[in-house]
Amino acid sequence: MEHNTLLQIAKDFGSPVYVYDAEKITFQYKRLTSAFGKVKQLKLNYAVKALSNISVLKLFNQLGSGLDTVSIQEVQLGLKAGFKPEQIIYTPNGVSLAEIEKAAKLGVQINIDNLSVLEQFGTKHPKTPVCIRINPHVMAGGNTNISVGHIDSKFGISIHQIPHLLRIVENTQMNINGIHMHTGSDILDIDVFLYASEILFDTAKNFKNLDFIDFGSGFKVPYKSGDIETNVEELGEKLSKRFNQFCKTYGKQLTLAFEPGKFLVSEAGYFLTSVNVVKQTTSTVFAQVDSGFNHLIRPMLYGSQHEIVNISNPDGRERFYSVVGYICETDTFANNRRISEINEDDILAFKNAGAYCYSMASNYNSRYRPAEVLWYNKKAHLIRKRETFDDILNNQVEIDL
Ligand SMILES: *Cc1c(COP(=O)(O)O)cnc(C)c1O
Repeated sequence: MEHNTLLQIAKDFGSPVYVYDAEKITFQYKRLTSAFGKVKQLKLNYAVKALSNISVLKLFNQLGSGLDTVSIQEVQLGLKAGFKPEQIIYTPNGVSLAEIEKAAKLGVQINIDNLSVLEQFGTKHPKTPVCIRINPHVMAGGNTNISVGHIDSKFGISIHQIPHLLRIVENTQMNINGIHMHTGSDILDIDVFLYASEILFDTAKNFKNLDFIDFGSGFKVPYKSGDIETNVEELGEKLSKRFNQFCKTYGKQLTLAFEPGKFLVSEAGYFLTSVNVVKQTTSTVFAQVDSGFNHLIRPMLYGSQHEIVNISNPDGRERFYSVVGYICETDTFANNRRISEINEDDILAFKNAGAYCYSMASNYNSRYRPAEVLWYNKKAHLIRKRETFDDILNNQVEIDL
């Protein structure tokens, strides 16, 4: 987005504020759809947890997307945003049987990732179609190595447990209509991903009534220069071909499903903060902004590097800064980063702020969570108000002491 547009939004809506560019979200959605253009039935289920604002969900509904949800609350949000239950897949991990039954009652596609719940659910509801989440134990190791890993992962049913899984399905006569994997690791090497896909195809052969195969996500987008981006066009070309071939031998046209979060929304997002203090120390220059890990925790949690642009002075002389927040705790957004000269009250824009930023925000230090703005049809729309003091007190019970 244009710097001037962002500056105007910071002026109109205050700082800090999240801004999402609907055009970029649409572009990414269409890019992925066309990469898999040769597949007859493709379904993209946007992963709600990346950015769960209801207006963003409505945009995805308009685009024809489905939803991938990981909690009953995300299911409810999706329904509220206008999605039909059959457009929603529910892929939780470690939730109670009761919550899964609640989701099944709402009519969404259930995805089960452990044998204990599978057996219980299958015994009680043999007619409800269920997808199974497999752990293929494949991850990228080094450049082109394929290594067997993720043995410790809490996600999915291990492929080594397929015999047990099949026995449960036979005993309960339950209806398995989908096979799924989501390893959580980035797709850096397409051959590694295709290798994992083969394991999924092998597993799929065991089930006669499948409707879809879900390949999860892992699409990587660049954050800093030099980062690899998943080549979705190459992946689309190769996987589509293999998928169509599989459908032939399987004897039925299946749906190929993906559930991207980051790929669809990361680059569409900007987090705008205002510089409170420029502080020189003996070793560095700190730029302290009106935010912290209460609003954007990825750099502290994962070591993620979000590019930071001084949109108030984009053409200034570059200097080295440590960009930090105002939380009473170490909250370093960027260390020793080259940024064009920063003055107090300048607006800094954090890039790649669409995915896992607002959705992980908290009230730590009793600060308000920021406002959210959707840039749609060349206009800024407020899609979430900044919190107020009432929100901080909400649900707190003041007792008489
Ligand atoms: C988080 C999640 C995704 C989305 O992952 P991205 O890396 O954001 O694309 C997809 N599927 C499941 C089951 C998830 O938990």
